[in-house]
Amino acid sequence: MKRLENKSVIITAAGQGIGKETAIRFFNEGANVIATDINRSNKLEELAKEYPEIKIYTLDSTSSKDVKKFSHTISKIDILFNCVGFVHNGTILECEEKDWDYSFNVNVRSMYLMIKNIIPKMIKQKSGVIINMASVVSSIKGVKERFAYGSTKAAVIGLTKSIAVDFLKYNIRCNAIAPGTVHTPSWEERVNASKNPKKAKKDFIERQPMGRLGKPQEVAALAAYLASDESAFSTGVVYSLDGGMTI
Ligand code: NAD
Repeated sequence: MKRLENKSVIITAAGQGIGKETAIRFFNEGANVIATDINRSNKLEELAKEYPEIKIYTLDSTSSKDVKKFSHTISKIDILFNCVGFVHNGTILECEEKDWDYSFNVNVRSMYLMIKNIIPKMIKQKSGVIINMASVVSSIKGVKERFAYGSTKAAVIGLTKSIAVDFLKYNIRCNAIAPGTVHTPSWEERVNASKNPKKAKKDFIERQPMGRLGKPQEVAALAAYLASDESAFSTGVVYSLDGGMTI
């Protein structure tokens, strides 16, 4: 028996990177997956071409109206993976109010909206699993020039613990994943957009004692564990996987 046989799953930001790999992993574990994304550049269509059994849904997770409309299309939901996130570079001096607001809107408010609209269905079922994407760059570790990002991911950890404690009585578990740097399309973009991409790449890798970046598949494997009953005794926990960055 596969670990997520017949489980109904929603994933945000599943068009590329960690969200996409998790959609594939969950599907391979037997789940019925709905992969959502704001879907710039039709990434979801590419995923659906490769995996026609994965359902796709274009969803801006920061839109209250769209999230509500989407939630009305859902009857059974076992697992919600909030993967959406955006990295703002810079210290507080480079972080304008619009950057701060955008970061909190994408990284935190999106999770608030998804959980608020989906959790009533889990309460009714008296079961459910929520996984939120945090980062080691958060309340776990300060990293240079990640002021807004680190603040939002610390908020994700607080949000995770609050949901976990409030809804434990309904058999709903909520955990967070805190990766170090993972090789994804947005990481490539960040490197290429820097003044010295070669040095930026080297710095990212050197920051992790294992001397390499994480793979999206490695994060997906942890998400599969947290989604499955194998982690049934775990809630309100932040799981780091970071190549030794936080030793
Ligand atoms: P990515 O940046 O490669 O992809 C992000 C996806 O989010 C894109 O498909 C994009 O279309 C989608 N998206 C953006 N705004 C959206 C919105 N408003 N609604 C719905 N979808 C939206 O992603 P990644 O690098 O795989 O990161 C995924 C998550 O993991 C993020 O929360 C990120 O902060 C976190 N994370 C990433 C790393 C890393 O090094 N890559 C490390 C730690 C944590």
